[in-house]
Amino acid sequence: MAERILTGIKPTGQLTLGNYIGVLKNLPKMMDRGECFIFIADLHALTLPIEPKVLKDNSIDIASFYLAAGLDPKQVALFLQSDVSAHAEMNAIMQNYLYMGELSRMTQFKEKSAKMKESGIGLGLFAYPVLMACDIILYDANTIPVGEDQVQHVELTRNLVNRFNQRYGNILQMPKAVTPKVGARIMSLSDPTKKMSKSDPKGDIYLKDDIEVIRKKIMSAVTDSGSEVKYDVENKPGISNLLIIYASLKDISIKEAEQHFKDYRYGDFKKEVAQAVIDELEPFKKRYEKIIASQSYVEALKDGAAKASILANKTLNRVKDAVGLFRAK
Ligand code: ATP
Ligand code: MG
Repeated sequence: MAERILTGIKPTGQLTLGNYIGVLKNLPKMMDRGECFIFIADLHALTLPIEPKVLKDNSIDIASFYLAAGLDPKQVALFLQSDVSAHAEMNAIMQNYLYMGELSRMTQFKEKSAKMKESGIGLGLFAYPVLMACDIILYDANTIPVGEDQVQHVELTRNLVNRFNQRYGNILQMPKAVTPKVGARIMSLSDPTKKMSKSDPKGDIYLKDDIEVIRKKIMSAVTDSGSEVKYDVENKPGISNLLIIYASLKDISIKEAEQHFKDYRYGDFKKEVAQAVIDELEPFKKRYEKIIASQSYVEALKDGAAKASILANKTLNRVKDAVGLFRAK
């Protein structure tokens, strides 16, 4: 089968440089490689407390950022997860084929639920990987581009596919996680041992940040003692993170980036990294602002949901038939 690519972002917060390097930046290349289903995972965003207006604004933002990254809505299906009801329907079926034990071992659940002890942990947060597995299998997707943090969930989807296919025959397509060679895990600027995450704003660079704010954030990024610009994740996590950011934006290897900065002091190094980030994000942000102003995302999302629904409903019917749900319509 040709490549069928699926990728999504949750509208839980402002998009970060991590989301850009891990996913957005690679989309144009992906579009040329295969058939793409690209969505805004708005149902997933409900797994953490969020204000209605924020959820809505974030969803519009992500759609616009996808388009600003160069997605052609004619060539790909760009849609909102909640606009394609097959996701929720498939979820109702598939939740019976993943086990409480495996779900409780997911790193994302452990990390996010730890912060929610007081408010109570919603069932949706626990069951998140079930819905994510449905997102993937509905489109017979075989290639799932993700940052490193989501690899575990794709692995779980693979277990589900195996389990389901063994029981019912060859019904579901086996997916595979694909992470970028450089930049699969951009770290926080204030704590470079932690992932940069949009729902955890400390140490983030936001795609909507003003240029001078970006410069300031990078200039004050936590670095390490010593003075040599060297890639050493153990001993120099801050410097290594900045090297990764630079290398992925310039499309060069970490070795090449290291070589480029070998005679630099930390201050000058940071200045140049900041400039590289600004040079990349400035035109990107301009395109985003134009899309927001023209509201061209509305048509794109409508078309996308229609395209996605056709395929998703086909898969859903195949699964219904397999498990023995009688279809009277
Ligand atoms: P949240 O805190 O809500 O989980 P997030 O920043 O982790 O937000 P997601 O919506 O979970 O974003 O993920 C969207 C995509 O961005 C996924 O493919 C994910 O792997 C990727 N991604 C997220 N953070 C990073 C990062 N720091 N570096 C590289 N890729 C990332
Ligand atoms: Mg995440």
